[in-house]
Formats: sequence, structure tokens, C-alpha cells
Amino acid sequence: MALPSDLQTNTCAEACPDPTPSLPEQCQKHFTEPFERDKVISGGSTGIVVRLPCGHARKQSYPDDTPREREDRLLDFKREYEVYGRIVNRPHFLKMIEFSEQGGIILQGVEGHTLRYYLENQDTCIPLSKLIGWARDMAAALHTLHAFSIIHADVKPDNMLLDESHKVYLIDFSGSWIDGKPGSSVESVRFFLPRDIMSDSTVETDIFAYGSSLYEIMTSTQPYHDLDDEEVERLFEQGIFPSLELVPCGQIIKKCWTGEFRSIKDVQAALQEIRGS
Ligand SMILES: [Zn+2]
Repeated sequence: MALPSDLQTNTCAEACPDPTPSLPEQCQKHFTEPFERDKVISGGSTGIVVRLPCGHARKQSYPDDTPREREDRLLDFKREYEVYGRIVNRPHFLKMIEFSEQGGIILQGVEGHTLRYYLENQDTCIPLSKLIGWARDMAAALHTLHAFSIIHADVKPDNMLLDESHKVYLIDFSGSWIDGKPGSSVESVRFFLPRDIMSDSTVETDIFAYGSSLYEIMTSTQPYHDLDDEEVERLFEQGIFPSLELVPCGQIIKKCWTGEFRSIKDVQAALQEIRGS
């Protein structure tokens, strides 16, 4: 696969591939460590994430899943495994440690919260330079995915993870589209480019969702957070979006919403030109 020139060499120090280390002894029980409710990090539609004693995180089925649900989840886990297999050692992604069809996926454990949680619960003002840094990192991550023929299909700050040092990671590829093969994800209303729900997820739909994510990063609220979903859907369909007059990066958000960027690379170029960062 031919990659864009900026992805062929790893310029970022953290992107240097480390030789696959053999798993330390405390990691031998990744898939047999029992499920404990107090170790649950998050529980979503694609499975439950638990913290293991070794510090790694296990994404697995729910203990009370029916065989049918287990089967669907296995497809999602396989999809996520395939994505992590492609983007090995790229910055702004977690490291995948292990995978098993029965047990799920073992990922690098991160102490922290989703970016949405952080934005919603932060009392003090977050410096604009920091917000722009996260926005640039997530655009870079999306660029990496697109370069590997992956459409995330659920870009939102709830799928961005902040660690203790405030590095940000793009997560959850369980519903992503790979090489044009449909995934199981679709964006929620405020991140969804108005279209036939059965139509393909594309670079354009990811860029629209990125625009709404950028709005949330800059304002700490989702677009039209005070309206109900049907109303937002109706407005978006008519091309009516929240006012961006006082929102940092407003012009970039607008262009993401109105389809004026042809690739995430163009979004990155626009973000590079923002001053004060
Ligand atoms: Zn481990």
C-alpha cells in the first residue's frame, strides 16, 4: 500500500517501533483474569472495558451476552484488531498488546478520561493552545486512518482518550469501515453528515464528524446541545449550523460541515495556520 510521504517515516519519537517484547509474567493471565465490576473502565455498545492487575485494559463481551450478541461482538473485536494491526506504532493511538477470539482485545492501559468527560468537568479555562494541540493530534490520527483505507465512522470526543499527561488518543475502531467494507458504526446526530442512513461512511462523513468534534473541543459543548435530536437533525439537513462567530477555529469547523475540505490533510493545513498556538 502506498502511503503519503509524511507517513512513510516516523518523525515522532514515540512512533519508533519497539521490538515486540515478550509479555511480562503478570500479563500471562490477560484472558483468564476474572471479570470484576469494580474494575470496569467503560461499558458501551461494543463491549465492556476492564482494567487488569497488570495495568493493561481488556475489551471483552459482557458476561451475560447471549450467543448471538457474542457473535456480533466478535466481528467488532476482529475489526478493531485489524485496524490496530495496520496502524502499529503510529502516534495518537493506543498500543494493542494481544488479541484472542474468545477473550477480546488487550490494549495499553491509560489512566485518564475521555476528552468529552474532561471538557465537561473542567472548571478552569483550558488554554487555547492546548485545545488546538488536541485538535491537531486528532486530525493527524484521522489522517493516518484514512491513509490506511480506514474510515473511523464514529469520530467524537467520547472516542478520544486523555492520559494523565494530557496526551490524546483516538480510540474505538470496532465499527470502522476497512477498505470500503462496511463497519457497524454510525455517528450520533450532532456528528452525522445528513445523508441516507444506509449510504457509505466516507472521508467526507469523517470530516463532518471531525468538525463537530472540533466545535465541542473549542466550546466544551456539542453543537446545538440545548436542542433535542429531531430538531438538530432537521436543522443540519437544511444546512443550518450553530453560530461560529465567537468560536475559535470557527472557519475550519464551518468548512468541515459544508464539505469544503477534500481531505483531512486540508484540515490539518488549515489548523497549522491558526495563530496563538
Ligand atoms: Zn498485561
